[in-house]
Amino acid sequence: MTTREILVTSALPYANGPIHLGHMLEHIQSDIWVRAMRMAGHSVHYVCADDAHGSAIMLRAEKEGITPQALIDGVWKEHSSALRDFGVAYDHYSSTHTDANRELTARIWLALRAAGHTESKPVKQLYDPVKEMFLPDRYIKGECPKCHSKDQYGDGCEVCGTAYTPADLINPYSVVSGATPVLRESEHYFVKLADFEAMLKGWLAQRRDAGALQAEVVNKLQEWFADGLRSWDVSRDAPYFGFEIPDAPGKYFYVWVDAPIGYFAAFKELCDSGRSGLKPADLERFIRADSKTDMVHFIGKDIVYFHTLFWPAMLHGAGLRTPTAVNVHGFLTVNGAKMSKSRGTFIQARTYLNHLDPDWLRYYLASLLGPTLADVDLDMKAFEERVNSHLVGKWVNIASRCAGFVHKFFGGKLSAQLPAEASASYADAAKRLSACAALYEARDYAAALRLIMDVADTANAYVADKAPWKMAKDDGQREHLHVVCTLALNYFRLLTIWLAPVVPSIAARAFAFLGEAPPRFEAANTPRLGATLNEFSALTTRIDPLKIEAMIEASKENLQAATPSPQPLPREGGGAKAAASTSPPAGRANRSEAMGSTSPLVGEVAARSVAGEGSFISIDDFARMDLRIGTVLECGFVEGSDKLLRFVLDAGELGRRQIFSGIRAAYAEPEKLIGRKVVFIANLAPRKMRFGVSEGMILSAGSGGDDLHLLDADAGAKAGMPVK
Ligand SMILES: [Zn+2]
Repeated sequence: MTTREILVTSALPYANGPIHLGHMLEHIQSDIWVRAMRMAGHSVHYVCADDAHGSAIMLRAEKEGITPQALIDGVWKEHSSALRDFGVAYDHYSSTHTDANRELTARIWLALRAAGHTESKPVKQLYDPVKEMFLPDRYIKGECPKCHSKDQYGDGCEVCGTAYTPADLINPYSVVSGATPVLRESEHYFVKLADFEAMLKGWLAQRRDAGALQAEVVNKLQEWFADGLRSWDVSRDAPYFGFEIPDAPGKYFYVWVDAPIGYFAAFKELCDSGRSGLKPADLERFIRADSKTDMVHFIGKDIVYFHTLFWPAMLHGAGLRTPTAVNVHGFLTVNGAKMSKSRGTFIQARTYLNHLDPDWLRYYLASLLGPTLADVDLDMKAFEERVNSHLVGKWVNIASRCAGFVHKFFGGKLSAQLPAEASASYADAAKRLSACAALYEARDYAAALRLIMDVADTANAYVADKAPWKMAKDDGQREHLHVVCTLALNYFRLLTIWLAPVVPSIAARAFAFLGEAPPRFEAANTPRLGATLNEFSALTTRIDPLKIEAMIEASKENLQAATPSPQPLPREGGGAKAAASTSPPAGRANRSEAMGSTSPLVGEVAARSVAGEGSFISIDDFARMDLRIGTVLECGFVEGSDKLLRFVLDAGELGRRQIFSGIRAAYAEPEKLIGRKVVFIANLAPRKMRFGVSEGMILSAGSGGDDLHLLDADAGAKAGMPVK
């Protein structure tokens, strides 16, 4: 195996609110990957930081009557301790508001400027004459020009989904002061993205072909090239909390410029600290254009543009390396729906930690995580059942059933050798699990854990068959008992080695019991024989459902304890929209604010009652329905149902949707539907069915039974397009 040197990052949580379980999905995903790559023998450096800049931080500090520095310092302590307590083992967790980042941001900017990739020109933007500041789109609200819903953000309507600019709003007002904004001109600085079009196209295709960018991500990005890349507005006027642009007094770097550079800055600080075997000179070795090292980013699907267009363009333009891989994941839902404060499913990391073991959540989420952009659902009942059944019932139980006999009869020592048959059984199990290394590397944790639990079943069947508790009653069976316990505990050790990246704390206790330091994966090839075990104590317990209830209740209390405006103001711009003069595809991608994704505003769905007066509906009622085009990726029968077909739709910017539709009688050959377009309701509340979660409804005409006919769309209609 070639040993790789890899710098791994997670998206930077915004220093504007607590870490919640939506963030944890990503930090857990990247931490498992880092641990697995290390256990495979690679050299990995793992860094992250708080994203500390922007108008939102400045305004919140002002509201709290503290300096931005005091605000971000307090949040940093909270973020870094929550991540650490979840077992997310960053080598360094920094902030973007550091000297290292200021220096690197200036260096990259000056290199872009020297190479002619920057320009400046006047921009007209809405200005708050009372607060005396330019207003980011998200700080302007008003009436939607399309559906006339009130209090909609300046970048798009949350009711009808229309994307627009703040200038389109009817009766706009500043969220900061309530004043009516006025248009004002100011000089802005830009990065000329068009300079990088060919480079980016090549990079995307090459990374996709290398398996380092998901095909669905690359396909989505192709849309951006259709109209040519416009220049990226990278400056903001004072007052702003950030870094001032060199030679441009009063002009600041837009938060999305220095945020990704924060990856380098955090790594620079790690190199300068001399920890992790690094030295100051290692920074250049990692970031120079011809670096032999890898740089792997983990991000949510809402911030793809920043990491796969702007970031590689900036790096390339500044003569530096580009990312090796950008791994994109979906969002976290809880109990089949978006996280909701009122339902108590908007769970802060600290609230979880106050009630439950972090390894339990790590295991459950990993059991659902694959290499796709699919959302992951934290179903509380399934969480409880899976942890109890897998971790306690299938894994820890092997040790708890056998450890006592080894201490009682054999002085705590494992047998020095195994008979041929037992050796062969162990070798077979070890060989099966060796496939996990590649599965971890490919981020298919769900598949790895399925395999591990398969082998756990084999081990448990062996223990049940041999029944050591019966053998222990027969003095004549001592030697055989020793072999049975030794093999069973070696199965336990084998499972522990492969589970260690996912449940590091429980695994650490298990290795302490086994009397060995946490080993690498390769140690699994050889059984541990003749070794002395330490006392066995409970490695983990079953989940008490009352604790889950207590956590949900505590999450509801957090809501009540919050300030009258419970939603912190977002980082300005957000998702693709933050790209300023480059306009992104319209729609949901605009909803994101924080780099750490799944921010409160993304997670919260406004509950609205549907008025039922008369037989007419208003345009508002219709506008509430998010009808979209979907392309059928998969369609098949559902085992155990004679009515349903299971569809997986490509829903464009909405990702993939699984929908169960009761049209089986009308379509005898579902596979023939693959590739065709359908119309579906995208914002129907997800419904948990016996067969899985249905995320929407596909429209068809007809009276039911076999008289049902799917709607079609003309060739120009693309997956994800809204239907109005
Ligand atoms: Zn609207």
